[in-house]
Amino acid sequence: MITGLFFIYGLFFGSFFMALADRWSQEQSIIKPRSHCENCNHPLAFYEMIPVISYIFLRGKCRNCHKHISIVYPIIELLTGGLFAISYVLYGFSSNLIIMLALSSLLVIVYVSDFKYLVILDIPLIITAVIIFSTVLWAEGLTSALWHLLSGIIIFLVMLLIKIVGDKRFKRESLGGGDVKLSFLFGLTLNFYLGIVVLVVASLLTYPLAIYYVCKKNDAEIPFGPFLMTGLVIVYVYQTPLINLLQTLIF
Ligand SMILES: [Zn+2]
Repeated sequence: MITGLFFIYGLFFGSFFMALADRWSQEQSIIKPRSHCENCNHPLAFYEMIPVISYIFLRGKCRNCHKHISIVYPIIELLTGGLFAISYVLYGFSSNLIIMLALSSLLVIVYVSDFKYLVILDIPLIITAVIIFSTVLWAEGLTSALWHLLSGIIIFLVMLLIKIVGDKRFKRESLGGGDVKLSFLFGLTLNFYLGIVVLVVASLLTYPLAIYYVCKKNDAEIPFGPFLMTGLVIVYVYQTPLINLLQTLIF
């Protein structure tokens, strides 16, 4: 029952995050103009904005101009709903739930803004960092929160160094500034060691796309943000077995 509620909340939040990512990436206001069809500017009535349901009801087309609406919209809504429901199933009402919901929300925003516009927005990143820091402070105390903060700063500096060396070596932007800022969250959410694991997991996830780009001789920039966020959520969920694995490997 509660899981279902989290799923439905997730659908609506997913819809909101997509609008937010779309508009902020194009430097538009979140409030004005009202939601409209991107093709004919027909303003959407409330029953045209219900996540997933409206898409099915309208058969994936604008009611006014009948232009096809991207399947990405209901998919992102379902993804957010799924992530919210899984968060509750995994953690119940706890501090981990708050962190997991914050990470899921940022993941969806980064998927849309980075895949569509090659942008990682600062404001959602800052809000997520504040939520995570406050939650750790509340749940684990000041010492732990400061250690998380320090881990975040160290990972950020490591990534910045990789970027500076990479930019010089390849004489072009090797890592986006947004990716470096995002890496601060890995340390803040987990710790230094698991933050490094996130980088490894994200790199592994990126390989198929990178190989595809090389084969296609596509010189375009690869959006790394979505892979970093996916890596972060995976490592967050599996942190206990990963810590055990690291300890067996190191000691
Ligand atoms: Zn239209």
